[in-house]
Amino acid sequence: MHLVLSPLTVFLERDGFSKIPPLVGDEDFGLDTGQDLTQIAALQAFTCVECGRCTEHCPANNTGKILNPKEIILGTRQYLKEFGPKSAEPLLGKHLSMEAAFQCTTCGACEFQCPVGIQHLPLIVGLRRGAVNTGKWENSHGGELFVTLERQGNSLGFPPSDREKFIEKSGLPYFDGTQDYCLWMGCLGSFDPNGRKILLAFVEVLRHLKISFGVLRQEKCNGDPARRLGNDYLFGELAQSNLEQIREAGVKKMVSICPHCVRTVGVDWKEHGGAVDIEHHSELIARYQDRLPLDRDQQKSMVFHDACYLGRYRGVYDEPRDVIARFGQVVDPPRARERGFCCGGGGGLMFLGEESGKRMNLDRAEELVATGASVVAAACPFCNSMLRDGLAAASQTPPELLDVAQIAAAAIAKKADGV
Ligand code: SF4
Ligand code: SF4
Repeated sequence: MHLVLSPLTVFLERDGFSKIPPLVGDEDFGLDTGQDLTQIAALQAFTCVECGRCTEHCPANNTGKILNPKEIILGTRQYLKEFGPKSAEPLLGKHLSMEAAFQCTTCGACEFQCPVGIQHLPLIVGLRRGAVNTGKWENSHGGELFVTLERQGNSLGFPPSDREKFIEKSGLPYFDGTQDYCLWMGCLGSFDPNGRKILLAFVEVLRHLKISFGVLRQEKCNGDPARRLGNDYLFGELAQSNLEQIREAGVKKMVSICPHCVRTVGVDWKEHGGAVDIEHHSELIARYQDRLPLDRDQQKSMVFHDACYLGRYRGVYDEPRDVIARFGQVVDPPRARERGFCCGGGGGLMFLGEESGKRMNLDRAEELVATGASVVAAACPFCNSMLRDGLAAASQTPPELLDVAQIAAAAIAKKADGV
């Protein structure tokens, strides 16, 4: 039957890459039983031509996890065959594994590779929603993350006053409605030492470009880890609280150093009435690259690591490469651009503790080290954090790890010093 259905599914086309559908009303808890499966999900389960491309490119499967995206689709098919579409039998059980569903980084490689347009992520995130909302998912790290997000409003568990102190110490202006951009700081830019360095490097670039900016007085996590781990209630609370701040501040345009923030603020918040114009810092810097110094050191080899949420999710591949190409020789690792290999930090997994099998960040770091580049260039603070550990484990003399903004800011400083 799948050969007949495949063209139909392709024709129906995905309603957006890796799109998480909104829950409908108070009684929608996600995918708990067969009664919750949409017609399109059921149709797609029978559309799979079993080519295995999704699994071949899945970073979780490639590093020894039990997650196998092809088996997620075929498991749904087996469920439907055995229990029927309106069954009250739990979906997670005989044919679909809860452990596998929570091993997904939401990197999107499976959906991107599927030749018949099957959407794995609405299914995987839907299963997570079902497990979280019915209290079936018991994970101490996940539980702690949700409590931290509720109490502190950020994923790293710091008091919000730490962000204020950092803003004051760094001399960052607050957004007052007159500046060109509102700079969204994100959890890592607000609290993580390396995230802060990236943010301040981008601030240096903005100042050099004479682009005015300000930060929000109050900012909470955008809700990405809660959303992708299936806790939509918490995601909604965070989105609404932030949207209130943004509306009150009169924000028109935002920019962020984090592709996860860009995606969640720009796309997922629409469910809560958000229509925020936000872009990634690499897009902004690339637009003004002619105003940056040109210092093309051909001896300096830089390997660029594509962040899943910037590349596959947003289609931004050239902009960060264009920026860093002004300062050195850009090389790609074997798995690059649309086939970029995940760092292991997405989908809330950065907060869930130890992985089974080989660590994804180590797998990726080994590949980056093997290029022989002296610099690993990244464009996401999550990737930066994951790769920092991965590179330290992969090599005793690892390449330098820098964000695109740090590379640009260093060139600006070098020129200012007359070096
Ligand atoms: S989104 Fe990525 S990690 Fe998740 S199943 Fe697909 S390929 Fe695997
Ligand atoms: S890539 Fe698509 S068609 Fe191929 S096995 Fe995976 S889900 Fe099935």
